[in-house]
Amino acid sequence: MRTDVLGVKFDQVTPEEALAQARALVADGGFHYAVTPNPEFILEAEKNEPFARALDGADIVLPDGVGVLYAAKILGRPLKARVTGMAFACGLLGWMAEQDIPLFLLGAKPGVAARAAERMVQDYPGLRVCGTQDGYFQDDAPVVEEIRASGAQVVFVCLGAPKQELWMVQHGAATGARLMVGLGGCLDVFAGDVQRAPAAMQKMGLEWLYRLVKQPKRAGRMARLPLVLLQACGARLRGR
Ligand code: UDP
Repeated sequence: MRTDVLGVKFDQVTPEEALAQARALVADGGFHYAVTPNPEFILEAEKNEPFARALDGADIVLPDGVGVLYAAKILGRPLKARVTGMAFACGLLGWMAEQDIPLFLLGAKPGVAARAAERMVQDYPGLRVCGTQDGYFQDDAPVVEEIRASGAQVVFVCLGAPKQELWMVQHGAATGARLMVGLGGCLDVFAGDVQRAPAAMQKMGLEWLYRLVKQPKRAGRMARLPLVLLQACGARLRGR
């Protein structure tokens, strides 16, 4: 059973349960994809029907932002846990290194994915990154073929939302991968180009504040986020 937060339905899972689900999907064969919506996704899905459908069709839907957790609480249906895309990705990396499961990295500016791969392999000995591709390609077909030829079973798709979710739906199955995960700006973090907030700030749910200070040009985007909380209050008052 999923929990509806302003139209986007989230899994009620702990980080460990999310990883167990991912392992089962890879073992199962066939194509599957996971999404990690934050409040910006909720606002985008309200006006972008194909994106809303892509979120709805995902095999795993993890609440990435504290805003989602607050909104769920306000609505009176709290989520079990916050599962950030980064934490989910790190859990997958440890498991893939252990099991020798080939990983492909797709997205970010030229050079970033390759640098992220180098760092991942250092941090997760035994990890096999079977290919990388930046996220500013024009034609999809050669990228699909590159992933297919690499033999990747898991692909981190980091093209930003809604592009990455639509890409996974449209092209995922043709790549032969078993699991794709939409992970936004994670490759920039893995490459060391963008720093994560200190652990204490992450624990307090203040990662957004850290990002705002470090990347003030995001202010415009972030100014819309309280809207999600206001909408949750409105929905609660209307008894929905
Ligand atoms: N990106 C990309 N192709 C595009 C647009 C964006 O590969 O056409 C990348 C961008 O370089 C960045 C990521 O997608 O690495 C999106 O980052 P953002 O910070 O917007 O995502 P968030 O972490 O907020 O979801």
